[in-house]
Amino acid sequence: MNDPQKTIGEPAKLSGIALHTGVRARLTLNPAPKDTGIVFRRIDIPGNPSVRALATNVVDTNRGTTIASGNAAVSTVEHVLAALAALGITNAMVDMDGPEPPICDGSALPYLELAKSAGIAEQNALAKTWTPEKPIEMGFGQSSVLVEPADELRVSCVLEHGEASIGTQSLEMPVTPESFEKELAPARTFCDFRDLKQLIAMGLVKGGSLDNAIIIHDGAMICKEGLRYADEPARHKLLDMVGDIALTGMSVKATVKVVRPGHSTNIELAKKIMALANA
Ligand SMILES: [Zn+2]
Repeated sequence: MNDPQKTIGEPAKLSGIALHTGVRARLTLNPAPKDTGIVFRRIDIPGNPSVRALATNVVDTNRGTTIASGNAAVSTVEHVLAALAALGITNAMVDMDGPEPPICDGSALPYLELAKSAGIAEQNALAKTWTPEKPIEMGFGQSSVLVEPADELRVSCVLEHGEASIGTQSLEMPVTPESFEKELAPARTFCDFRDLKQLIAMGLVKGGSLDNAIIIHDGAMICKEGLRYADEPARHKLLDMVGDIALTGMSVKATVKVVRPGHSTNIELAKKIMALANA
């Protein structure tokens, strides 16, 4: 059963610091006609070039998912996309005044609240839906993926982390607007202290702070106001999976289980799904 396509009711704006560039950024969600998909538009570049949120437009998966088409590049799109996908929003024009959306508190909750505040409008067309005919197993480097047929999107992950404070975390969640809001959207991004020096040397995480990330260091998870969930890192991995799977441009009805998920694995999976859907 295909769901109706949906867009947002009215434009809604959010501004804040971008994680990697550290500059102030503003993002506006705008309604879009049916069959538009989710499109990011760089309103700071002459001609306002745009890029459609599709796995085939992904150009980088290092510490976040970057999409680009021509001179329109947008990085760290996954939290915005996760929030829109969880609400069933299939069409939106996302205006950006720079290369990266605000990181906010490192979770998807501000984007979920933004989209909800704009209202959600059903459109007179059905969403493109994909479900596997039979279970599919894939391996990508250290990661493995199992996709099974289901009536709705369910995501599952096993996160193995060297630090004693995390150990092995695993969980599975259905992705409905309600479950996403309660169980996944508030989970914040995390970073291993040992990786920070390298990220800084690469010119990344200029806007990173304890306002928007959990730092894992010496067997402890360091964050503001305590952890939101005991397994917050695994929940954030599921949130990222929801955002990256949205880059199929389809409503995926499947249980997606990933051992050691990451953006590169998620995007390989999204591309595979797109290829199977078009076969
Ligand atoms: Zn993330």
